[in-house]
Amino acid sequence: MKQERRMICIVCPLGCQMTVQIEDGEMVGISGHSCKRGESYAIDEINDPRRTLTTTMRVQGGEAPLVSVKSDAPVPKAQLFECVKHINNMVAEAPVHIGDKLIENVAGTEANIVATCAVPCYNHGDGTDGQRDGGAQRTAPSQQQMAAV
Ligand code: SF4
Repeated sequence: MKQERRMICIVCPLGCQMTVQIEDGEMVGISGHSCKRGESYAIDEINDPRRTLTTTMRVQGGEAPLVSVKSDAPVPKAQLFECVKHINNMVAEAPVHIGDKLIENVAGTEANIVATCAVPCYNHGDGTDGQRDGGAQRTAPSQQQMAAV
């Protein structure tokens, strides 16, 4: 059975509004796109829709309680919620640097979660920066930390 689906291409800021004809799960026609990338996007949207995930992750011992993060590759749309849940159960340890890989293979998607901003260590005012081991690390939150959130 032939179906028609409207979608907006999100590959570039032009945001072409496309109409796609689908038959037996396959794209058989497309209009409204301005380049080949729109066609590839439509095929991916039909077969395996994916999105780059952007969110925040908790930080321990940092000047800010959260760091903004994103996936370094698009993750399956159906697994976005599972990925966010996984990220919410993790805590990065300050200092965090831009590009630090904070979670590998998030929820088995093969994408990694990387920091998109820096969070320096909290300055304790005692001449130390509060840094214990000099690197961004992942730890599962303790029950106490979970209770504090
Ligand atoms: S079809 Fe091409 S020009 Fe249009 S939004 Fe997609 S990438 Fe941009």
